[in-house]
Amino acid sequence: MNWAGARQRKCRAALKREPGRKSFSMRHVAVGQPARNRSEDAIQRAIIRHLETRAAPNTFWFHVPNGGYRRPAEAKILKSLGVVRGTPDLCFVKDGRAYFLELKAPGRPLSPAQEEVLIKLRDCGAIATHAHGLDQALAWLQARGLLKGEVQ
Ligand SMILES: [Mg+2]
Repeated sequence: MNWAGARQRKCRAALKREPGRKSFSMRHVAVGQPARNRSEDAIQRAIIRHLETRAAPNTFWFHVPNGGYRRPAEAKILKSLGVVRGTPDLCFVKDGRAYFLELKAPGRPLSPAQEEVLIKLRDCGAIATHAHGLDQALAWLQARGLLKGEVQ
């Protein structure tokens, strides 16, 4: 596939979606970039719903929004601000311990950057791992005492 041609097709499609718009900058059209992994997003949303209803007391969690395409200039700014490629999707603190969980859709491998970050986190004393799919993630969270109760 010709990248320039693909970019022009995406611009034309974007203009069709917004009839009042006169032009569409080609710089804003991501071509050849990996699409955001929607199945991982669905797994993560389900985990957040579990946490909202049955997180163990004194558990704080947050997501680092590293995923998705960034234009090179934006990526450079984020990197200069301390964003680290491969940082796990979910971070937890409970009773003075730090936990990190990288979520993967079933059958999807870790990227080299994700592997490297998990190793660095473990070297620093954190509990860091990855899980394939919702069941594995929930089982890990429960085994670590971050979720109360049994998975139904
Ligand atoms: Mg992930």
